[in-house]
Amino acid sequence: KSFNELGLKPELLKGVYAMGYNKPSKIQEAALPIIVQSPNNLIAQSQSGTGKTAAFTLGMLNCVDPAIDAPQAICISPTKELAQQTFDVISKIGQFSDIKPLLYVPELDLPAVVKNQVIIGTPGKILTHILNRKLSIKHLKMVVMDEADFIVSMENVPTQIQQIHRLLPKQIKICLFSATFSQGVENLIKNVVPEPNVDIR
Ligand code: AMP
Repeated sequence: KSFNELGLKPELLKGVYAMGYNKPSKIQEAALPIIVQSPNNLIAQSQSGTGKTAAFTLGMLNCVDPAIDAPQAICISPTKELAQQTFDVISKIGQFSDIKPLLYVPELDLPAVVKNQVIIGTPGKILTHILNRKLSIKHLKMVVMDEADFIVSMENVPTQIQQIHRLLPKQIKICLFSATFSQGVENLIKNVVPEPNVDIR
């Protein structure tokens, strides 16, 4: 398959090719049709180095309605370093779109009202600002949970993710990525990735 067959907007295809990616990696070919074209949630197994970041960042960018200046897709990253890396990828891959992503980690000050359509952040920060209404979830369509195995290994973080999940409207698409599937990850999935879902492990 080629990237052109995956339902991506032209400005995102331009970004993909500018990155030097000629054809989708295995995880991109498997995950992108589900993220972009299916209403179902996604559970995906993927190690670092397989192209998973491009897969879900393209999915996030593709689902955004540029006419709405409010958060529409959120990626929850377990650490600020990972959030930064994901932010760098999404900024580059989306360079030809009008979508401006926002990095959402502890040290950074936030605008009083977040208008960015795509947010990449750490769990505590995202939860705090959904609760204090700086981060509106009214127009949210999609939430990515990256490195779920890492998430469940951290104290308090699984609880934060579940709290975030409880605040989300029911029809939001959840895409969970993990390199491994321990009992802890399975429990998280039970709690935060409702069926129907597509499982590509
Ligand atoms: P990740 O698994 O997201 O950490 O990505 C691993 C590396 O693969 C990164 O350096 C990406 O730039 C690169 N990459 C992602 N998708 C592709 C692709 N379709 N073709 C070639 N390289 C890619």
